[in-house]
Amino acid sequence: STPVATFCALLTAAKTGLLVKGGDVLEALARTRIVAFDKTGTITKGEFTVLELCPIGCQVNLDTLLYWVSCIESKSSHPMASALVNHARSNFIKPKPEIVNEFEIYPGEGVCGIVDGKKIYIGNKRIATRAGCQTVPSMGSMKEGVTHGYVFLEKEPIGMFTLNDTCRTGVAEAIRELKSLGVRSIMLTGDSTAAAMHAQSQLGNVLEELQAELLPDDKVRIINNLKTKEGPTTMVGDGMNDAPALAAADVGISMGISGSAVAMETSHITLMSNDILKIPKAIRLARRTRKCIM
Ligand code: ADP
Ligand code: MG
Repeated sequence: STPVATFCALLTAAKTGLLVKGGDVLEALARTRIVAFDKTGTITKGEFTVLELCPIGCQVNLDTLLYWVSCIESKSSHPMASALVNHARSNFIKPKPEIVNEFEIYPGEGVCGIVDGKKIYIGNKRIATRAGCQTVPSMGSMKEGVTHGYVFLEKEPIGMFTLNDTCRTGVAEAIRELKSLGVRSIMLTGDSTAAAMHAQSQLGNVLEELQAELLPDDKVRIINNLKTKEGPTTMVGDGMNDAPALAAADVGISMGISGSAVAMETSHITLMSNDILKIPKAIRLARRTRKCIM
């Protein structure tokens, strides 16, 4: 039977917006040595704004590019997708998801689909390889330190875009609190190194380590390594790309408001309020609870 202390702790956690799936989770949380944070939608709000989107070469004009991109992205639930769709709308272009055929998601890379009989790929450098293109176009005068994306028509690059996202409030403070509890914090992201470093500088360089350009499986491999090398490991994430890593961690924590359903299902804790500061608080609570039981 569940000891009273555990039961009370679960109740306290629930009252503050932390959905903890059982007493074993609290026990594991109390022992956590390291927290690995996903970037997009976890450390950052996942509310992108499109800084630039422009055609490359003379295959398509801006309106056609916006139309194709918005049709395909309207079928994706990635935070970048809604930014691109909104950008098209603000340019008076209405996406038609129904005209997209053979829509596919490549987690950690991007999306693809057929519109107007043309196969279009949208995503990061990796999607270039997927499209059959060996080199990605240089960003030229486009802004640095933000997320870059590319659009391909089959092998041909036909567009580029840059997006910006901001960190959630309280993240830097949460990481400093974790440190005072003897817990290390690192970032694992599918986004570029430049974007990872940009978020890190927004946080005043509080993270001890950054690993970028990761595929969902890379995140799992890193989590498993941390478990053997550093001890009990917590992973915090929001996306479908994080789900395998959340399941692999000793404690997986998902974002409750904006997170994907699959991330919530595979995690052990859901942060109902998306408030990262609740994580060090939960660790304190878990440690206090353990003392009560022993
Ligand atoms: P993170 O690990 O930071 O949460 P993801 O694994 O979700 O990031 O995505 C990694 C990268 O894949 C993104 O930075 C983006 O470049 C690309 N990507 C994923 N989904 C999409 C999409 N729907 N449209 C464009 N790019 C995408
Ligand atoms: Mg994410």
